[in-house]
Amino acid sequence: MPRPIVASISISALQHNLAVARAHAPNARAWGVVKANAYGHGLERAMRGFAAADGLALIEVDYAVRLRELGWTKPILLLEGFFDAADLPLLAAHDIQFAVHCEEQIALLEGFETKAGLHAHLKMNSGMNRLGFKPEAYRAAFERLGRIASIRSVTMMTHFANADDAGNPGLALEEQVKRFNAGTAGLDAPRSLCNSAGDLLHAELAFDWVRPGIMLYGGTPGGGSAADFGLRPAMTLESEIIGVQDIAPGEAVGYGSRFVADKPMKVGVVACGYADGYPRHAPNGTPVVVDGVKTGTVGRVSMDMLAVDLTHIPGARVGSRVLLWGEGLPVDEVAFAAGTIGYELMCALAPRVAVREV
Ligand code: PLP
Repeated sequence: MPRPIVASISISALQHNLAVARAHAPNARAWGVVKANAYGHGLERAMRGFAAADGLALIEVDYAVRLRELGWTKPILLLEGFFDAADLPLLAAHDIQFAVHCEEQIALLEGFETKAGLHAHLKMNSGMNRLGFKPEAYRAAFERLGRIASIRSVTMMTHFANADDAGNPGLALEEQVKRFNAGTAGLDAPRSLCNSAGDLLHAELAFDWVRPGIMLYGGTPGGGSAADFGLRPAMTLESEIIGVQDIAPGEAVGYGSRFVADKPMKVGVVACGYADGYPRHAPNGTPVVVDGVKTGTVGRVSMDMLAVDLTHIPGARVGSRVLLWGEGLPVDEVAFAAGTIGYELMCALAPRVAVREV
């Protein structure tokens, strides 16, 4: 028998969430972002869930080629572009579009001859200081790209640091938009700015293409609840109680004895650990649901197990159902308690966890 831990992936939730993204940006075309194995949901499953997207965007060249092999015929975009001259024949052969974010990539394109028409997405660093050309260098890069015979189209692209409006200090979305507009002034090309937060909160910036990721999986891009936007969780992680211990006041639970009971307690041991993707740093009290009742973790998460408080769930026993996150317990709530984000939890789902489509 396999361990009783299963991730259920809902294809209809993927479809539904894509429709929500589209409804927020009805005049834009939508890339479904499927990098990192579709945020842990599986590339092929996401391809089916996002069949209605205008294209799929990711960062892994081999997974982009895999999408073609799986039969995806619509556009594919590499969000970080390519890394090596050897990637270019593959991109040309499989009609894979790519971001261009540095001079080195332009030089590789200048040295590459192909009869195929290539589609570039020129990335501006509008303040996030990750990838891209500074606004003042953008026009020159745009024109240089345009002189390359194989380049058929250039889309103007940037990425927001704080589109969730969470009041982060440092860089306002409005400032990034201002820099983007300044750097692209007078250039006539499609525009691509919005991630999930942009799509949900800034319809006025949707322009030609939007690039939603986390919202398609039913997670929130930061602040607020995904359910408030009508999003449905696509991944539900469940396991079972595999052991029960009654402990006395003063007794400890797990490695490092990080939890010590202050009253008589009933503790359940769940078949889910950090080697399944559950965050090891989750503190005592991280929410879980056992037999439909909310409770919290106790003690340190170990490789294959974690412990939960069953004191107030008298009927809980070996075999009781444990919901770690998903339908009934938002992944963002668990992530918040563990000091991380839903993106990280879903992406970290380990290959050893059985996946079931629902
Ligand atoms: N566009 C780019 C360039 C990205 O790097 C990402 C993800 O980080 C996205 C879009 C999707 O972002 P989100 O998952 O927040 O919607």
